[in-house]
Amino acid sequence: MKKLGFGLMRLPLTEGGAIDIERTKAMADRFMAEGFTYFDTAAPYHQGESETAFRKAVSERYPRESYIITDKLSLFKIEKAEDIPSFFDTQLEKLGVEYLDYYLLHAMSASSFERATDFGAFDFVAKKKEEGKICHVGFSFHDSPEVLDRILTEHPEMEVVQLQINYLDWLDSSVRAKECYEVARKHGKDIIIMEPVKGGALANVSPEVVSLFNEKRPSLSPAGWAVSFCASLPGVIMVLSGMSNEAQMEDNISYMKDFVPFAAEELALSERAGDMVRNDNAIACTTCRYCTDGCPQKIAIPDIFTAYNNYSRFQKTNLDGAKWRYNKICENGGKASDCIGCGLCEESCPQHLPIREHLSAIAKEFE
Ligand code: SF4
Ligand code: SF4
Repeated sequence: MKKLGFGLMRLPLTEGGAIDIERTKAMADRFMAEGFTYFDTAAPYHQGESETAFRKAVSERYPRESYIITDKLSLFKIEKAEDIPSFFDTQLEKLGVEYLDYYLLHAMSASSFERATDFGAFDFVAKKKEEGKICHVGFSFHDSPEVLDRILTEHPEMEVVQLQINYLDWLDSSVRAKECYEVARKHGKDIIIMEPVKGGALANVSPEVVSLFNEKRPSLSPAGWAVSFCASLPGVIMVLSGMSNEAQMEDNISYMKDFVPFAAEELALSERAGDMVRNDNAIACTTCRYCTDGCPQKIAIPDIFTAYNNYSRFQKTNLDGAKWRYNKICENGGKASDCIGCGLCEESCPQHLPIREHLSAIAKEFE
């Protein structure tokens, strides 16, 4: 199976803002003509229209055995456990298929794992697998390696994990992509990668990073480096790309058609590029964490600064995503606005950062 998956979350739109079905059909045709077969969707994508677009562009036009379709159980869209069966049936109907190749519990984290357990979601997907309505079960994941380890330990029947991995998040101290990857490998799971280009951000890196790439492989685009890094990791069965236009698709096809995994040298160069992007920081916090123990408000100062740096690094283009990550960080401690200005953190900061000032500015942007 070729390792590039068509993520159906950012499809081309008409001027009126609806999914452009004719362009989606043409892109699906081009994708399949090159031997790619994997499509990924979920109920919330395009306000529920992504699944229908798949039916119109693919399942109504191609034999069932010619493609692989993955959908997700989005528990955050479901109010009570009794609604799960009808949610699932509606998905099959919208997609125009009798069964799913992969079905993933959507966006598992410590809190959504509890909800999934309370709702009997793991039993539900196991039953559907037995009935032949799902070929493979798994979950997509957004939390710490510790939570991932717990879920995989308690649910060894999960076959596949979908993780957010890219060369920037790989060594990022808040996303901890490499550690999550290693946990999935330890449990022997197949890995699907989402956000390999970090929502498109790694397609627009600084000229310094571009010249680092060009010295090694001038024919590979920055997005190509990002996707190839992910596809080269052992155990990765699929890398998803949310393709919004024909040019992105052609770029992806050019390096994934006859994909040759990166050698160790190229993997190391990708990590170096990650360091360069990461070091281009708005707040020069080294995440040493000397400041956190003394904070009476239990504010996760370095994690908040990392989230802010990630947001600023990409010209502040994704405020919703940044707020989501910020709120996750604050779930187990104080928010930036909870700072009482005692100054204890600044006394212990080896970088002499004006932490209180930064927190106040961040509170204004994220709260
Ligand atoms: S100044 Fe604010 S962030 Fe720093 S230790 Fe005091 S309460 Fe915590
Ligand atoms: S002490 Fe300073 S450099 Fe270290 S984590 Fe805290 S803010 Fe960052």
